[in-house]
Amino acid sequence: LIGRIAALSRATGQSPPSWAMAAFLPPESAFTVDFFFMKNSAFLCDVVVVECADEYSIAKRMRKLKYFFRIIMVAAAALCCSCGNGESGARDSAAVLENGSSEESEYGGTGRQEIGANRYVDTAMGTVIQQTVYASEETAADFYVKSMALLKELEEERLSWRLETSEVWRINGTAGNEEGCGISEETAGVLRDCVELYERSDGAFDVTLGALTRLWNIDKWAAGGLDDGEADGFRLPSSADVEHALKLCGSDKIRLAAAGLGEGEPRVFLPEGMGLDLGAVGKGLAQSGLQGLLEAEEGVAGAVISLGGSILTFGDKPDGSPWKVGIVNPFDTSSNVGTLSLKGQWCVSTSGDYERYVEKDGVRYHHILDPHTGYPAVSDVRGVTILAKNGTLSDGLSTACFLLGPERGMELAEEYEVEVLFVMSDGQIVMSEGMETYFTEF
Ligand code: ADP
Ligand code: MG
Repeated sequence: LIGRIAALSRATGQSPPSWAMAAFLPPESAFTVDFFFMKNSAFLCDVVVVECADEYSIAKRMRKLKYFFRIIMVAAAALCCSCGNGESGARDSAAVLENGSSEESEYGGTGRQEIGANRYVDTAMGTVIQQTVYASEETAADFYVKSMALLKELEEERLSWRLETSEVWRINGTAGNEEGCGISEETAGVLRDCVELYERSDGAFDVTLGALTRLWNIDKWAAGGLDDGEADGFRLPSSADVEHALKLCGSDKIRLAAAGLGEGEPRVFLPEGMGLDLGAVGKGLAQSGLQGLLEAEEGVAGAVISLGGSILTFGDKPDGSPWKVGIVNPFDTSSNVGTLSLKGQWCVSTSGDYERYVEKDGVRYHHILDPHTGYPAVSDVRGVTILAKNGTLSDGLSTACFLLGPERGMELAEEYEVEVLFVMSDGQIVMSEGMETYFTEF
């Protein structure tokens, strides 16, 4: 059965039969599965996603797809147990390129040299990564492998406060130590930028909210929200706990010492109990890393990479048309409020109350905390998009501007020479003058 669906899809270039699709794709979905193919001998399956306005709906639907495929695979395994060849079970993530119509080319056998659009979908840093790389298949595949390694390294060796292997984990573990913690030049640079943004945003942006984000258990909430019944990872903290955690926050308490003569690496000193949470700049740092990788990779004419809500564009499309980046409609995340038309290298970051939240007893708790109260920010803003040349800046500023609102946020964006667009809770769109050049409203 699996083989026949795959062969039919491949031969006709059509989507699998509607009964297969209807199980997990609502008809109004902006999500299109072009075709899927399966290696029935190993019971592997891959899905090619060609278009989706909203990566959070990809994440949700990917989960449904996985369950669907698991059921099929279990049934197929029962029917075809004699053809097993050592591999069993589904591959956990889908990582697929779209071009190439034969299995050989999909699995990297042909070495085609002409430039084409190579598409990949994968997961890293707790989010869905989508890439379209205009290059030869070989160059694109090489970039894809390197890019995923970079994202894994960034999470495991630098940013995650949950993994013992990371720099942030070490820094948090030495909070209160007189000798502080030795850190890399890169991390020292990031912390300097973050402290500067803390000062310039009047304390709205604060990467020392570790005690609070842990209390709220934010990283355990699902992207796209959880219903009441599913909110396992959520517990409403007591106001006393929030008060206590708040005392352990404040970027003004970070002390940074530059690398001294003969003393080696830079050092950071945190007061006891304080913890870093670099979640607000993580994807931006990833964008910056990928930019460097794209520049170093010879033969990539252009690329567009989506990391959750953050988009990186690079170079040009072969036909010279601009990159189109959709800005999600916070009121209906399967649609966009408009698009940005971009040429060359840009970083687009969005922060919104609809991205990661929990609804409990009719109240929505989202993941952007107000450092002055310790609670999710109460704001007239539903979403903020920043357009900048630098990833860390665009990511950090989208969080800061969400908290500051349009008036102060616009001033801050101007100071940093980036463009900003706010979607307000009454549906109004407010943007900087420069943004109007790039934005087309639907
Ligand atoms: P995301 O990266 O999830 O799209 P943001 O870039 O806006 O969204 O970052 C939100 C994350 O930043 C939260 O999940 C939390 O880890 C952290 N955070 C929450 N509030 C703040 C804040 N006021 N300042 C800095 N970081 C914050
Ligand atoms: Mg951010």
